[in-house]
Amino acid sequence: MVTGKWKAGAIAGWLVLFMLVMPVMISAENDSLVYHGNTKSKIFHRPGCRYYNCSSCSAVFHGRQKAIDAGYRPCRVCKP
Ligand SMILES: [Zn+2]
Repeated sequence: MVTGKWKAGAIAGWLVLFMLVMPVMISAENDSLVYHGNTKSKIFHRPGCRYYNCSSCSAVFHGRQKAIDAGYRPCRVCKP
């Protein structure tokens, strides 16, 4: 059956799409964002903050808690 194969292919395609999209959606909600920490002021920023890519923000944290564990404190502007 040609139609049956096409349906199976379409479902597989949707599954692949879901598997690609879902982690992105979950990470947007969860705490798996990449934060940048200012190595001089020991303040960390979330993506989108105007200080996110500052010259001293060379520390990278995969999660808010990791930044806090490293001794950084949240920025007052972006409130990560
Ligand atoms: Zn900030």
